[in-house]
Amino acid sequence: MTTPADEHERTMAFADIAFGQIKALRQPASPRHFEIWYNYATGYNPSLNQTINESLSRNGTLSEADVDRIYETYISPTRFSDRLDHVGAQVQGEIEQVMDMIGAAAGSASDYSQNLANVAQKLGTSPEGAGVRNIVESLVQATREMQQNNRELEARLSASKREIDQLHENLQAVRNESLTDPLTGLANRKSFDEGLTKAMADARANKAHLSLLMIDVDHFKRFNDTFGHVTGDQVLRLVAISVKHNVKDGALAARYGGEEFAVVLPGTALTAATTLADHVRRAVMVKELKKRSNGESLGRVTISIGIAALRASDTPQTFIERADGSLYTAKRNGRNQVINESDPKVAAAVASKVA
Ligand code: GH3
Ligand code: MG
Ligand code: MG
Repeated sequence: MTTPADEHERTMAFADIAFGQIKALRQPASPRHFEIWYNYATGYNPSLNQTINESLSRNGTLSEADVDRIYETYISPTRFSDRLDHVGAQVQGEIEQVMDMIGAAAGSASDYSQNLANVAQKLGTSPEGAGVRNIVESLVQATREMQQNNRELEARLSASKREIDQLHENLQAVRNESLTDPLTGLANRKSFDEGLTKAMADARANKAHLSLLMIDVDHFKRFNDTFGHVTGDQVLRLVAISVKHNVKDGALAARYGGEEFAVVLPGTALTAATTLADHVRRAVMVKELKKRSNGESLGRVTISIGIAALRASDTPQTFIERADGSLYTAKRNGRNQVINESDPKVAAAVASKVA
């Protein structure tokens, strides 16, 4: 659990690095520059760091154009909606094309009926036998033209359909990306918030159990300080994989915050959730971590898990708070353990906090 004092220290360290870079490169200390360099200092977005490093090694600095581009690509809060707008505009274009085709089809249908009308007129005025051949021929010709038009229309429509299917896929990919945590591939916080609300409504509608796990890496700050953030990030991936391997389809596993995870377990009562959580805890604990570069052992990490089960009066906030309360107790009780809210130690911790 992060205390305000820890947060202060951690974020000040990032801010110092960011200002150091701005000073070294004599750049404007504007919020936009600061935000870019702050993100760089955290190292949480490897693609941003790579882009900056490339620009630095090419030009020795970041030009204003680089800053704009990096901001737009990695930071701007509107970047997803911009992309959605772009896709939306393409769909719009496709729809307009289809409308044009329908217009063209209507036109050719009316030409066809006009042709038939002319033929009928000729038939009415022609002397018996004479010109019948001509009439039949023009009927046939008109029909052929109609068929040809139809074939062209069909080909254009199926090309448009392929294009629309592709756009649909792109749209889906952008949606998924906006709901996924890039480091671990788990659901992100936004997706968790939405999923929890939905899971609570479903559990109530179906009178089903619902449990919530809150997971926090033990002494992670120490680990990061000793081995660095890149290795720290590897630990976060390990925890994510251990969670993924132990939950069934239908569960929602998310990265809740920096080194905190949350798992929503539909159809799972407190006892079953506790057993499952213990499998996750063991899976993390037994793994010996090795440095990628030289295979050096980094020891092991452990996690603590707190669990709550849904109550009739719960809001998402009270539900999370109770799981978090159990997690707090697990930390106080020595870490590397799973504690659920029915454990008497949880009630004792709440009482001592209130007192
Ligand atoms: P404990 O939870 O056992 O009480 O101790 P802790 O050291 O883990 O304490 P806390 O949960 O408060 O510390 C969170 C630390 O996690 C702070 C920061 O160094 C690190 N951290 C947070 N988010 C990330 C991240 O995305 N990547 C990396 N590498 N480290 C992170
Ligand atoms: Mg924490
Ligand atoms: Mg921690």
